[in-house]
Amino acid sequence: MPKEDLVNLALRRSLFYSAAEIYAGSPSGFWEFGPVGEKIRRKIIDLWRKELVEREGFLEIFGAQILPEAVFKASGHLASFADPIVQCKKCNATHRADQLIAEKTNGIVPESMSTEELAKLIKQHDVQCPKCKGKDFTEVRKFNMMMKVDIGATGQQPCYLRPETCQSIFLDFPRLFKTMRVQLPLGIAQSGSSFRNEIAPRNTLLRAREFGQMEIEVFFNPKKINEVPRFSEVENYKLNLQTLKDKSPRAMNCKEAVEKKIISAKLIAYYLARAQQCWHAFGIPIEKMRFRQLADDEKAFYSRESWDFEVETELGWVELIACNYRTDYDLAGHAKESKQDLKVKEEGCEEAFIPHVFELSAGIDRTLFVALSLALKTEKRGPEERTFMELPPRIAPYLVGVFPLMKKDGMLEKAQEIEEELVSYGLDVFFDEVGSIGKRYARVDEVGVPFAVTVDYDTMKDGTVTLRERDSMEQKRVKAAELPLLLWKLQNNKIKFKDI
Ligand code: ATP
Repeated sequence: MPKEDLVNLALRRSLFYSAAEIYAGSPSGFWEFGPVGEKIRRKIIDLWRKELVEREGFLEIFGAQILPEAVFKASGHLASFADPIVQCKKCNATHRADQLIAEKTNGIVPESMSTEELAKLIKQHDVQCPKCKGKDFTEVRKFNMMMKVDIGATGQQPCYLRPETCQSIFLDFPRLFKTMRVQLPLGIAQSGSSFRNEIAPRNTLLRAREFGQMEIEVFFNPKKINEVPRFSEVENYKLNLQTLKDKSPRAMNCKEAVEKKIISAKLIAYYLARAQQCWHAFGIPIEKMRFRQLADDEKAFYSRESWDFEVETELGWVELIACNYRTDYDLAGHAKESKQDLKVKEEGCEEAFIPHVFELSAGIDRTLFVALSLALKTEKRGPEERTFMELPPRIAPYLVGVFPLMKKDGMLEKAQEIEEELVSYGLDVFFDEVGSIGKRYARVDEVGVPFAVTVDYDTMKDGTVTLRERDSMEQKRVKAAELPLLLWKLQNNKIKFKDI
C-alpha cells in the first residue's frame, strides 16, 4: 500500500499528525498520535515488552530525558554525533550531503566518509538541490544533532535531550547490578522518546526529530559470549541474513550462521533471532525482513559487529533496529568521565571486569509506520472497494467493535451490557451505534480492528450474536456469554476464527 494512502488515512482518522499544526511555521519532524494511533503505539511497546523484555527476564527502567553534558562527553555524542550538511547557494535550503549522493546514485554512502570526499562526490555525480535544482553548494560541514537545554535560573548547567534512550541504561547498570540480585548476562530495557535535530525530517514518522525508541542493552562477560543456555531454542530458527558478500538476503539457521562465523557468537545470533520473532509478531512478513551486515566504514566506530534489521517497503529497505556489539565502550567511557569504578565481579570469580554490551536499538514510530503500511490493504468485492488493515490482534487498536443493529427494542442496552462485560475482562472494545452496520464495519476495518460483534433481534430471543472477522468478512453465530473467552483466545492465537 503506497505511503500516501497511509498518510491520508492517518490524517483522516487522526492516527498521527503534525505537532502544533494550527500554527503555521511549526518546525517539522514532531508528531502527535491521536486516540487510535496512540493505542496502536502503546500496543507495539506492550508486545515488545511481553515478547522480548519479560520473556528474557530483562529489567525495564524509565530514565530521564534530559541528561548533563558530562554524559554525552563520555558517550562521544558531543564530539561525533554529527551529520554532514550542505547548503544550496541558490535557495539556501540545507540538505544532508550523504543523502543527496545516496539518492542520486542509488547507493549507500558510508557514515565515515570525510566532508572532502562527500564534496567531491557531489561534484562528480552532478547532484542537484531537490528544492530548486541548483547545483552550486556551500562546503560540506558537520552538524551536531544534539538538542541543548540550559537548566536552572541562570542557565549555568548545560544539559541535552537524550538522542537515544540507552545512555541511562549504561548509567543505571552499576546500581541495578548491585541492588537487584542479578547476574550476568543481564538485559536492561527502556522505551521512551529520543531527540535529534535532524537536518531533513521526512517521510513522516520515518525520520522525525522527536521519536520513540525501544532499546535493550545486554551486559555480559565477553569470555562467555558463547555460553547461551537457551541457544537450543533458536538454533534451527532461520534468520534472513545479508552479509557483506551477499547481494540479497538468504535464510540461514542460527547454528549454521555461528558455525560458519557469519555471526561471530551465539549470544549475538540468539538475540537477532528473538528480535526477528518479535517483529514477525508485529505482522511483518519474514520474507520482507533482512539483517544487513554493516561494513567497517558504515557502522558506528564503537561497534565490533553491526547488523541493521531492515524491512522492505515501497520506500525501499527501512532500518527498524540497529543491532550493535558495543563491547565495553560505554561503561569504560562513563567510568573514565565520572571517575567511578564500573567493574563487576561474577560469582565464584575473583577478577573484576567491565562487561561487554550487545544492543537491540529499535524505533517505535518506524515500526508502527512500517507495520501499518504493510498491513493496509484494498480489495475489490464486486463493484465495491474496501480498505482494511490486516494488523495482528495484539497490536490492533481495539480487539472488537460492538454494534447494536438498531437502537430500539432493547438492542442498545444489550450491546452496552456486552461491551461492559468484555471490558471487565480487560479486552479492548470499541462501541458504535451510529450509521448503517456496513459503515460501522468499514470504519473499524480501516483502522485494523480484527473482530466485530453485532447485537440483533435474534440476540434478544436466544442470546446469540454475530461475530465477524475483519480479513475474511465471514460471520458466525456465537453465544454472547461465551464471547470473553472466545475473543481472548482469538487475540492470543489459541484458536482460529475458521475453527469456531
Ligand atoms: P538512520 O541511519 O536511519 O539515521 P541511525 O542508524 O542513526 O538511523 P540509530 O542511531 O542506530 O539510527 O537508532 C536506532 C533506531 O532508532 C533506528 O533503527 C530507527 O528505528 C530509530 N531512529 C533513529 N533515528 C530516527 C529518526 N530520526 N526518526 C525515527 N526513528 C529513528
